[in-house]
Amino acid sequence: MIKVAINGYGTIGKRVADAVAAQPDMEVVGVSKTRPSGEAYIANERGYPLYIADIEKKPEFERAGIAVAGDVEEMLKKCDIVVDATPGGVGKANKAIYELYNVKAIWQGGEKHEVAGISFNSSCNYKDAYGADHVRVVSCNTTGLCRIIHLADEAYGVKSVFATMVRRGSDPGGIKKGPVDAIVLNPVTIPSHHGPDVNTVLPSVDIVTTAMIVPTTFMHMHVIRMELAQEASREGVLDLIRSHPRIGIVKGASGITSTAELRELASDMGRPRSDLWESCVYEDSVSIGANNELYLFQAIHQEADVVVENVDAIRAMMKAADSAEESVRMTNEALGFSAI
Ligand code: NAD
Repeated sequence: MIKVAINGYGTIGKRVADAVAAQPDMEVVGVSKTRPSGEAYIANERGYPLYIADIEKKPEFERAGIAVAGDVEEMLKKCDIVVDATPGGVGKANKAIYELYNVKAIWQGGEKHEVAGISFNSSCNYKDAYGADHVRVVSCNTTGLCRIIHLADEAYGVKSVFATMVRRGSDPGGIKKGPVDAIVLNPVTIPSHHGPDVNTVLPSVDIVTTAMIVPTTFMHMHVIRMELAQEASREGVLDLIRSHPRIGIVKGASGITSTAELRELASDMGRPRSDLWESCVYEDSVSIGANNELYLFQAIHQEADVVVENVDAIRAMMKAADSAEESVRMTNEALGFSAI
């Protein structure tokens, strides 16, 4: 069993913990919090040993009725690999301690590429992470872009990409952020950082991205245009998308034309926390233009799509599955998940 610690049990960390716990070849040896919270109670309830960043706060946790197993350094002594899911920018400061305890480490998209030197998406570059000590799983938006661009590139060759990200203002549980009555250009300059971030995984793709933030909490929406090198048909593209284990199709016949209805669907499907681990491509949006360019809308569940990628990154780094196909199949099966 691969012993996994999760440093930072927040939006991403708690989901990664549950996904790891569901895998037949992995176990959660600990999760960490900085202060007592609802999530800390749940960690106790789920049986995840709870470690804290500052051991002096142990009495505070205990007064709240939350059992503490020790500090983060003790957690690191128990694991083979740590998933750092601390807030963006915090994780890089933890690198020294991971090296001190000689544990492999995964960071999230809020950190810069340089923290790990390998930016990861299981569909694109699983082999790069094979046996590696340090890997960064790219952000939710970059994950969504990488999946679809790589798929199209392998089948048709992608000459160039233009994509606009309409981004959620805050996560549903986030009470401190987000525009209330505005569309915020994020950034106002073009391009946004997403294109260069895609290039950390797919270096040769010619891509320009723009982004804006809107007052919603569930999912981002991508508007994508890809110029293809070889001739493509709409049906051919739809078949290709259907073949991808992490890209789903929102059927036209379902009448779903929004993110709100997708959340309802995920909830009705019994997905934990209404999580959509797959990118959701709207069938009716898939079109081929006069110059063989592919257009589509895809919705990306920001809290979920990177979770399954973290599980595959663990397998690659621990050499626990020889190929992306094998790991993705194991991860999806353990979660009882096939793309919509
Ligand atoms: P979050 O704020 O929801 O959770 C972070 C957790 O880390 C909190 O539980 C906090 O208590 C804990 N923490 C803070 N400082 C710590 C420390 N020094 N040691 C241990 N724990 C500490 O953040 P999040 O949204 O889960 O984001 C985590 C990472 O994932 C970031 O890099 C972010 O950019 C990335 N990411 C977030 C999303 C998203 O939509 N939320 C999507 C993809 C990637």
